[in-house]
Amino acid sequence: MKIYLNELKSYKSSLQNGTMTYQEVSNIVFSSGTKPWQRKEWRNQRKDFIKEQCEQCGSKQQPLVLQHFWHPKSYKKHIREIYPIYYQKVDGVYNENEISDKEIQDVLKLFTETRDACPSCQKISINERKTMTPKYRCGRCKIEFDKPIKLKFSTQHGVAPHPDELRKKLVREKTQLLAWEKYEVEIKTEAVIRSIDDSIRYLTNWEEDTKTFCKRCAFLWDKYRKKPCKVCGEKLVSTLMHACYKCQQEGHPGVLIE
Ligand SMILES: [Zn+2]
Ligand SMILES: [Zn+2]
Ligand SMILES: [Zn+2]
Repeated sequence: MKIYLNELKSYKSSLQNGTMTYQEVSNIVFSSGTKPWQRKEWRNQRKDFIKEQCEQCGSKQQPLVLQHFWHPKSYKKHIREIYPIYYQKVDGVYNENEISDKEIQDVLKLFTETRDACPSCQKISINERKTMTPKYRCGRCKIEFDKPIKLKFSTQHGVAPHPDELRKKLVREKTQLLAWEKYEVEIKTEAVIRSIDDSIRYLTNWEEDTKTFCKRCAFLWDKYRKKPCKVCGEKLVSTLMHACYKCQQEGHPGVLIE
């Protein structure tokens, strides 16, 4: 296990000093069939770490398991967190004046249909009424009116955006594209580094991130976010609670403040 952890650390520094690319490292570290926590050495080490009784309910019934309260983020989630930092670096490169009328028209061409809409909130969720006046009522903002406005519409994209909104959107899209073109390597490298950090934490930080649970407590926690009341040990309560309702009436606090 030590060897594996040292490997992870050395891949991380190879990424940081640029001697390996994110593709090379992620091919080795994350594409191999066996997840690190399925490796035999790790399972064995886990066994040594598991305590003799459930830290939740005190049960000694085997099998006891190591319940993790922290999990590695997905690679995609890391990307989502890192990307905005790089978006900011190019934010402002494009501005709305540079979007040509033709670009706007090209997008608006997609909206070939026409729909009736609410004159106030411009949503198409309006109801035509048979006898009542005014004839229409908006399902969204609830105002009543005689004459709906007409909006351009496409089945695929919904109501056509206002040209000002569209301008902003096109600027955003161009900026996104630029951020990816310019910083793809940096973004993905950082994501692989963070994934490695996550793996290391998951494989080592048991003291803080795990507890020994019996099968029942692990099941209740994972499936229902419940645990036995800390006082009577019988009634099930939410994982954030200390005592069940009955025990609270006997003077125990519902929630423990740390
Ligand atoms: Zn238990
Ligand atoms: Zn409305
Ligand atoms: Zn109780």
